[in-house]
Amino acid sequence: MHSNPASAWDHERLSALDRSRIWHPFTPMAEWIAGDPLVIARGEGNELIDDRGQRYIDGVASLWVNIHGHARPEIDRAIAEQLSRIAHSTMLGLTNPPAIELADALLSIAPRGLSRIFYSDDGSTAVEVALKMALQYWRQRRPDPRPERTGFLAFRHAYHGDTIGAVSLGGIERFHEIFRPLLFPVERAETAYCYRCALGLSHPACGLACAESARAILERAGDRIAAVVIEPAIQAAGGMIAFPPGFTRRIVEIARAQGVLVIADEVATGFGRTGRMFACEREGIEPDFLAVAKGITGGYLPLAATLVTEEIHDAFLGRPEDLRTFFHGHSYTGNPLACAAALASLAIFREEDTLARVRIRAAELERLLAPLRDHPHVGDIRQAGLMAGIEIVGDRATRAPFPAADRIGVRVAHAARDHGVILRPLGDVIVILPPLSIRSDELERIVHAIAAGLREVTGV
Ligand code: PLP
Repeated sequence: MHSNPASAWDHERLSALDRSRIWHPFTPMAEWIAGDPLVIARGEGNELIDDRGQRYIDGVASLWVNIHGHARPEIDRAIAEQLSRIAHSTMLGLTNPPAIELADALLSIAPRGLSRIFYSDDGSTAVEVALKMALQYWRQRRPDPRPERTGFLAFRHAYHGDTIGAVSLGGIERFHEIFRPLLFPVERAETAYCYRCALGLSHPACGLACAESARAILERAGDRIAAVVIEPAIQAAGGMIAFPPGFTRRIVEIARAQGVLVIADEVATGFGRTGRMFACEREGIEPDFLAVAKGITGGYLPLAATLVTEEIHDAFLGRPEDLRTFFHGHSYTGNPLACAAALASLAIFREEDTLARVRIRAAELERLLAPLRDHPHVGDIRQAGLMAGIEIVGDRATRAPFPAADRIGVRVAHAARDHGVILRPLGDVIVILPPLSIRSDELERIVHAIAAGLREVTGV
């Protein structure tokens, strides 16, 4: 850890104010209030700098959003230039140049078949938009409307956000069960969590039998299902559950066979994270809807988009009095500052060939993580590009987890912090998801910090 000269921040005051005033997301608040928060005051490259000048590698890209590093002059400049013109105007009845340019730029790199873009603000809203559009599409489809298609199929361990529709799709008991009375029912298919295969099979001899559960549901209820919602290639918040090759493709084929639409949620995987601009490209998937957010602005400002095919969009055309309109929109939809940041981020992708670098770094990360596979408390290591998860277990032979009360994931992540790396685990899965601009030496430091944290917490 390096130190900067003393900063102008009064840590004691900020700490006391935060602990008495702020309710933090996904945070056990009693523990937070009793602690001393890390206050991030600045960012530089792949590092976060706290209010006392301590530097840390941003090992989770500020919750999976940062792409090209912090304080990138090109993105800073694009936002400042846009700020000198206008900060915000509405997309309801008006439009703006950065939103128009970004729509064209995104659609030119999106999976084939997507030709329209609907802006919103966060990953959750991008998913909500897709759900509502899919339902309304079936009601208004010409010449053969199917109003009975109102259901959705989602997967065990899925995570699609925290708004009610997105939570309805969610398959993570710990997060979602409490809200069940508010949620609409969803058909739940098995996922390809090979380390904990629900069918007790061993990969790769399984033949993707897990996909058969989606097939059975769709054969039984397909004519009532509007869409299948899937995180292509890897379920992120579910625990970095990287799918075996062919699983996502198989699910899409099963959906197509029943005439069911496909919503690809690339909120986590979009914008280069898996080594392709979109994870759909890995298996040549052409979804009807693509939900993106997080990395879209390089991690600078909230912005999301739902990309759709012309066929979906056409079902919403008609005279105003026909009420085929999509009645949905948010105050900051298509925000010009965010769109300007997104355009600058896409320019860096082109100028620096970010995708090629991600593939090199991903191979380096795989090599760095390999020795950890032998650790007595590492059950599984899963990776797709520059997103990886290390599943810690109490007993490797039985794959039994540590008791939940041990909070092993949180403790390892905290220990890594003392080695200069910020991490945020998912339960007992240690997540590595740095900015795509991460350097080789920084990746090494991340893996060393995790190894040290594991040693300190587990004693081996
Ligand atoms: N979908 C996926 C796959 C995600 O990983 C997330 C967030 O982690 C979301 C949706 C929700 O995004 P947001 O937190 O921006 O609402």
